Amino acid sequence: MKSLGVILALALAGLQLFAVTVVVSSSYFTSENTLLEHARGQLVDVGTNVIQHTKWFMSPARSAAELSTALAENQVVRREERDHLEGLLFQQLRSAPQFAGVYYGDEQGNFVYVKRDGTHEYLTKIVEIGAQRRTQFISRGEDFASIGSHFDAADTYDPRTRPWYQQAKAQRTSIWTDPYIFFTSQSPGITAATPVIGFRGLVQGVVGVDIEIRELSNFLAQLRVGKNGAAFVLNRNGDVIAHPNPALLTTVGEGGTLAFPSITQIDDPIARAAFGERLTPDGVTIETQIESDFEHAGERYVSLIMPFGLDDIPWTIVLYAPEDDFIGTIKANRTQNTLIAIAVAIATAILGLALANRIHAPVRAFAVRSALISQGEIDPNEPMPRTYKVLENANTALVKEISQRKKTETEYRLTFDKASRGMVHIESATGRLLRVNTSFAKLLGYREDELVGLAFQSLLDPDERDVLTEFGDSIAQHAAFGFEAKAIRKDGEPVWISFNGIFFQADGEGENYIVATIDDISQARASEEKIETLNREVAHFSRQHMMGDLATGLAHELNQPLTAITQNIDAALYLIGNAPDRTDEVRGLLGEIDQQAHQAADIIRALRVLVRKDGNIASVFGIRELIEQARRLVLSEARQHSVELVIAKGPELEVSAVRIQIAQVVVNLLRNSVEAIADSASERRVVTVSARQVGDFVQVNVEDTGPGIAEDLELFTPFETTKRDGMGLGLSISRSLVEANGGRIWHDGSSARSCFCFTLPLKGT
Ligand code: ADP
Repeated sequence: MKSLGVILALALAGLQLFAVTVVVSSSYFTSENTLLEHARGQLVDVGTNVIQHTKWFMSPARSAAELSTALAENQVVRREERDHLEGLLFQQLRSAPQFAGVYYGDEQGNFVYVKRDGTHEYLTKIVEIGAQRRTQFISRGEDFASIGSHFDAADTYDPRTRPWYQQAKAQRTSIWTDPYIFFTSQSPGITAATPVIGFRGLVQGVVGVDIEIRELSNFLAQLRVGKNGAAFVLNRNGDVIAHPNPALLTTVGEGGTLAFPSITQIDDPIARAAFGERLTPDGVTIETQIESDFEHAGERYVSLIMPFGLDDIPWTIVLYAPEDDFIGTIKANRTQNTLIAIAVAIATAILGLALANRIHAPVRAFAVRSALISQGEIDPNEPMPRTYKVLENANTALVKEISQRKKTETEYRLTFDKASRGMVHIESATGRLLRVNTSFAKLLGYREDELVGLAFQSLLDPDERDVLTEFGDSIAQHAAFGFEAKAIRKDGEPVWISFNGIFFQADGEGENYIVATIDDISQARASEEKIETLNREVAHFSRQHMMGDLATGLAHELNQPLTAITQNIDAALYLIGNAPDRTDEVRGLLGEIDQQAHQAADIIRALRVLVRKDGNIASVFGIRELIEQARRLVLSEARQHSVELVIAKGPELEVSAVRIQIAQVVVNLLRNSVEAIADSASERRVVTVSARQVGDFVQVNVEDTGPGIAEDLELFTPFETTKRDGMGLGLSISRSLVEANGGRIWHDGSSARSCFCFTLPLKGT
């Protein structure tokens, strides 16, 4: 009961847990994907926003530089009108709060520079290259009124040596410098520079506008990227040029100058992780937006890397935010749902236990009731409580099944025991007899119990080697099989049996076994042997005389002269009767001739009759079976000369031919082989017959270990013989018989031994 309850409880709880887990995780993964998708969308929006802002922030600088250049090119302001130029630069400086300074340098090295100096004040620097170089600094108030001025004789500043000047001059168009840290304000900035091109296309000077890009960092600091995310901007060389924490943006670079930190060095590990290993020796080479995930300090983040996509601003923005900013709530929810699932599973387990108890209670009651009935405590006829009905029905079905099985078994046992044929069960692994019936025991003259346990093979004649091998092979192959063999009775007498076995696969732990029926065929065999002897005689007779057309012709031809001889001798006797001298002697001699001649004529007539009697009707038969029968005809002759006749193993092949004619051919070939070996002193004395399928034909080979064909002998030619009493007709008759049956016969000269082959059409071809 305990195990039933526990199994039920566990199964129910497990099922519940599984179902809830499937639902919870499926909904979790779906919403997680949706939210992360949304998060990425948000990052794209923020990124685009930053890029727009930057554009808006930077474009006035270029406009200012280009405006000043236009004015300069059109001679609206000339350098000589220094005050005028300074006023123009001042106006531009005031037009945008992000401008830090505006200036103009020319080809002679003259330089006018207006920059912010404190919150409301301005400072102008003027370098004049006249007969003598002069550098003047003028401080100005908010309204541009001079507050004070001084000269600096030590100043050596030359605008023509500055990168912004050289770059704009070289490219002859507006350029942005790479961001750098402004020396005076120590804050990050960038310069827009535009060349002033004079009359003959010569560069006269360059206008520059400095912008502080700290504002960009401030903007990033105010951005909301998820709850805890951030964004930063990289220059093409991998320097971080804007970051929500501006304090991280300056480091001391080579030669003690201030520089931006590289993304690989910035003191912000999450930012480093967000950009990952994407910095190449060529700098930042990101061309399209990259969405990815990364992990830092055990937390997962979503990230987005976007190139600015503005031709002249080669910057890249990187945005990232912890995944939990977006999916934190559903994660918490998942834990909560899992806890609920566990609680439900526990409740189900308890329910399962209770249910098991309920199921088991009637079974227990039923057992108690049975025990009480068996002890006579309750009357079995008392009506059953309703709960037992189902059990009772199941029980009835089971009992019916058992009795049906018993009945079948009894029937089989009776059939087996009382059968008039011998029946046995044989263990397939060993061939041991497991069970035998009375008829089988009687057949072999044993008691049944003497046979059980004996190997079936031990009951066969040990000379039946082929059968014993076949028996061993068949039981190992678990195949149905049958054979005829000589068995030895308990009293030592031989008895011919026919065996037919079927293989049975054991269903449980038992051994596999064979059920076989065994019949006594001694009588059938005896009559078969009689027929065989008869056959042999007939065959012998036919071999001598069945010569087909040839023999018929021969007989006809012979009959004529023989009749003439008789007539002539009669006449001679008559004449001699009239001559008186030596009459008795001649009469006696001629009388004998007469008698012999009549006898010869009679024999030839008989031969003709026999030839006519042979009904040439084709039938379908197994060639191996026929070879076996032919073998038997030649067996005694072979034994006499110690020659072994072997039939090579192989499947049965059915041919369509006149059976008696083919038997004749096989007997002829076998006899030729036996006679060839008989006349020789060969040590190996074997004739091997084999049959196999070749295309639509069956080919039979008769091969012997005799001396081979004599030299100069023309085989298949009538009257060609090497034998003293041979007729030289066997092979030619065989040829006419085989060809009449649609086959071919030849001697295979390739073998050192003699090998005669013939073919016959397969059944149905
Ligand atoms: P015969 O009855 O005279 O043997 P066959 O036509 O059967 O006439 O054979 C002709 C001759 O072919 C035989 O005399 C024998 O020399 C030779 N011959 C036939 N079969 C064999 C064989 N298996 N081995 C050697 N010679 C053979």
